[in-house]
Amino acid sequence: MLATELIATKRDGGELSAEQLRWFLRGFADGEVADYQMSAFLMAVVLRGMSRAELSVMTRTIVDSGTRFDPGPGPPAVDKHSTGGVGDKVSLILAPLLAEAGLRVPMMAGRGLGHTGGTVDKLESIPGFRTDLPIDDFRTAVNEAGFAIISQTPAIAPLDGRLYALRDVSGTVPSIPLIASSIVSKKLAEGLDCLVLDVKYGTGAFMADADDAVELARTMVRLADEEGLRASALVTAMHAPLGLTVGNALELREAVDCLRGGGPDDLREVTLKLATELLHMTGTDSREDARSRLEGILAGGAAADRLALGVALQGGDARVVEDPDLLRAAPVQHLVTADRDGVVTAADARTLGVAAIELGAGRRRLGDSIDHAVGFELHRSPGDEVAAGDPLVTIHAASHEAAEGVVPAVERAIVLGGAPVARLPLVHAHVTPSDC
Ligand code: URA
Repeated sequence: MLATELIATKRDGGELSAEQLRWFLRGFADGEVADYQMSAFLMAVVLRGMSRAELSVMTRTIVDSGTRFDPGPGPPAVDKHSTGGVGDKVSLILAPLLAEAGLRVPMMAGRGLGHTGGTVDKLESIPGFRTDLPIDDFRTAVNEAGFAIISQTPAIAPLDGRLYALRDVSGTVPSIPLIASSIVSKKLAEGLDCLVLDVKYGTGAFMADADDAVELARTMVRLADEEGLRASALVTAMHAPLGLTVGNALELREAVDCLRGGGPDDLREVTLKLATELLHMTGTDSREDARSRLEGILAGGAAADRLALGVALQGGDARVVEDPDLLRAAPVQHLVTADRDGVVTAADARTLGVAAIELGAGRRRLGDSIDHAVGFELHRSPGDEVAAGDPLVTIHAASHEAAEGVVPAVERAIVLGGAPVARLPLVHAHVTPSDC
């Protein structure tokens, strides 16, 4: 078979046979299909899509590129996965929260992708924290702390790791089949009992449009169901950052606040909704009971101690959970204030996500290192009233020059209007296998 022929078939809207697609994907894994050929193929998929049969072959080939993790005997193993957003630190809260509720969360998370942040990058702002645990240590951490969060490993779905890194830098992220196969393959390989998906829509998501996000949610829930994994999805808004921080260490600090019963309402609500769904799916509680149990855990602060236990088991300095001031802070803090009275009508997630990359919080190219301390702290959210001179955003930057460089983007992102705007519902849709 010739790689160029298969790329051309896809480019022209044709369908690859199972044998052709497997050959191409395995060839990439073995180094016979080059990065530039895979990039061209991925772009053809972005533009032409994939059939259901191709999607299923792609997903299974990614799973089969590694081993399936087995958490061993014990409580149900669950996970949640987000399609990616700005300021989305839900996993950092949800994993220890559900562990405290008695479930196990073996989570394989991603790094920043495009303009969105990644859970692994956020965790690596903790000194010493290892996201590259060998599988046996991962299993031990999951069983001792109730959760562990690792990055893509050569053991589990390694092909997704290579594809994900290439997509990040080749403009080939926003595609329903590519996102669906990437996420569902990783979750199948984690050996889960139940999965909840947080499918984001809005300017800060890969799916700007709510209908596309619902379509992505249906595709993933159906794909998981066909492969024997119980899943459901919430389609949630991502027009403004989730919570009030964007940037790795800043987000970790906000997640700890939430685990201690505080934190911004939107972050807490999305986390509780997703966690409730998982607790309910494991069959132990009604939705109402699950929710009140989880609220009780957050109010009591025990999930923060659970996070500290997990951090220690992954080699990190667990003192940061008790005292987030131990996290490295950016040397420059630059405050942007309101230039007039008004109401915040938008805090554009995409603009802030891209500006965060410019500050160094994310990668411009494959393999770039990132600065965990930089990012944004929002002082107002859409719907809030402000007076001239009120603080809007603190830019945390490595230098005055870097801070000045993103001021125009911050001013574009935070829109002040004359009249209040209706707040969008946080949850747009709930998708279960019977909806697919
Ligand atoms: N998260 C993933 O794991 N994969 C994607 O393609 C997008 C978000």
